[in-house]
Amino acid sequence: MTASPANLAELNACVARDLSYLTLPANRWLPDIEKAGEVLLDTAVIGGGMAGLTVTAALGHMGLRVTAFDERPQGFEGPWATTARMETLRSPKTLTGPALGIPSLTFRAWFEAQFGPEDWARLDKIPRLQWMDYLRWYRQVLGLDIRNGQRVSDIRPMGDHVELQIEGPDGTQVRRARRVVLATGRDGLGGPSLPPLVDGLPRHLWAHSSDRNDYAALAGKRVAVIGAGASAMDSAGTALEAGAARVDLLIRRADIPRVNRGMAMGNPGSVYGMRDLSDDWKWRIQTSLAEAQVPPPRASVLRVSRHANAQFHLGCALVSARAEGEEVVLETSKGAYRVDFVIFATGFKVDWAARPFLARIARDARTWAERIEPRNARDHAGLLGLPDLGPAFEFLPRAGAPDAGISRVHCFCYPAVMSQGNISGDIPAISDGARRLARGIAGALWREDIDHHYQRMMTHNIPEVFGDEWTAAPHPQGVLA
Ligand SMILES: Cc1cc2nc3c(=O)[nH]c(=O)nc-3n(C[C@H](O)[C@H](O)[C@H](O)COP(=O)(O)OP(=O)(O)OC[C@H]3O[C@@H](n4cnc5c(N)ncnc54)[C@H](O)[C@@H]3O)c2cc1C
Repeated sequence: MTASPANLAELNACVARDLSYLTLPANRWLPDIEKAGEVLLDTAVIGGGMAGLTVTAALGHMGLRVTAFDERPQGFEGPWATTARMETLRSPKTLTGPALGIPSLTFRAWFEAQFGPEDWARLDKIPRLQWMDYLRWYRQVLGLDIRNGQRVSDIRPMGDHVELQIEGPDGTQVRRARRVVLATGRDGLGGPSLPPLVDGLPRHLWAHSSDRNDYAALAGKRVAVIGAGASAMDSAGTALEAGAARVDLLIRRADIPRVNRGMAMGNPGSVYGMRDLSDDWKWRIQTSLAEAQVPPPRASVLRVSRHANAQFHLGCALVSARAEGEEVVLETSKGAYRVDFVIFATGFKVDWAARPFLARIARDARTWAERIEPRNARDHAGLLGLPDLGPAFEFLPRAGAPDAGISRVHCFCYPAVMSQGNISGDIPAISDGARRLARGIAGALWREDIDHHYQRMMTHNIPEVFGDEWTAAPHPQGVLA
């Protein structure tokens, strides 16, 4: 048995060896295509978070030239080291996440190379910031081409390619690619889901749980947290640890969800079977999951409840909110609460208007509202707003909209869930999603260039047999017996 890598340098060598055993990345096989005096990228990825990293790697393994752009500074993509506040990941440590089926790319390999197998055995859940460190290493060891500080401000499908307008420290530039992948995150097609009553509240008196809120400023204050999911507990826990005078969790439901139904769907069958399921079944599954909701992790609830000044108010629906000076008065189904600050831990929604760079996609993309007319539609308007995607996560034009290249843009973020299942957002199946997308793009590009590939085939003239391998028999004298 070969010894396990004893440090990161040895693990890096191991990754290089594994890739070479698998002959990855594939040699480049696409023609260079020029537009406006520049060679098109085969694919541009918007977002360098976990999904962006994984899909950039998967596309690169296909032999494609791919560059990703992220507006954040290097090493601070995604929520992990910025807006996330949990102590550890919810996911079990054994998930292989972005590893693309390569053992040396797993979190476990990275962890054991630095801390050894005994520490791995002792590890319960993965600490949040350690997960970010792992993603930083993943990017570096694979040499991914991710450009940071680059905010995509417009996506212009141009028929046979897509233009990206990008704002960076050196001003505005245009990059052109044959395909574009949106790896823009949990809120990738929208933003926070907020009740309309926030409109009446001064902005400095409330935050959404995904905001970069200054929790130290909550010391000594009365804080209300709306919601009972993981981010509600993380926000409440962080406020309490920062010295909040008290934290009231206002929870509409009579009970906190206890069972994560989605866990029962986490198997290879659903990863590969969901995409081709009937519309009725997809709707039934996603509405059931939405109704059941995901419980907060037990450790996150305990992080809150160990503080005597934390109160859980169940069956407490928010009715209205108003500011009185620097106080917020929250009217609820259980009476009024006076607080100094409100945190809405109310999740995310598809809201194209919140993402101006998606304006052209929003105008032309088909959603599930155009695809099905379910009886319980009114209760699940959010699901109907999700995009109706093709087999490689590509947007499809809505009825009457011209297909001016919208299907060159692929949606590799959580809102793909109605079409593809949960393979483009969370850790468990992110590699499966990335490989599906990469295979789909590679195949589509090859079909588009079929003239070129056919010509290449017909002019291919490297002999493999030279004629000196055999001797032809003399002309037969008669019939062989
Ligand atoms: C608090 C929190 C905890 C979570 N914990 C878990 C967990 O334990 N287990 C699990 O499986 N899942 C978890 N998830 C869900 C999921 O794994 C994460 O949301 C993960 O970050 C998704 O990766 P992503 O690449 O899709 O999005 P992100 O990591 O959010 O990356 C998106 C990137 O896109 C960039 N971007 C967006 N728009 C533009 C633009 N116009 N131009 C340039 N760049 C842009 C952003 O800067 C960002 O870096 C959690 C999510 C959150 C929010």
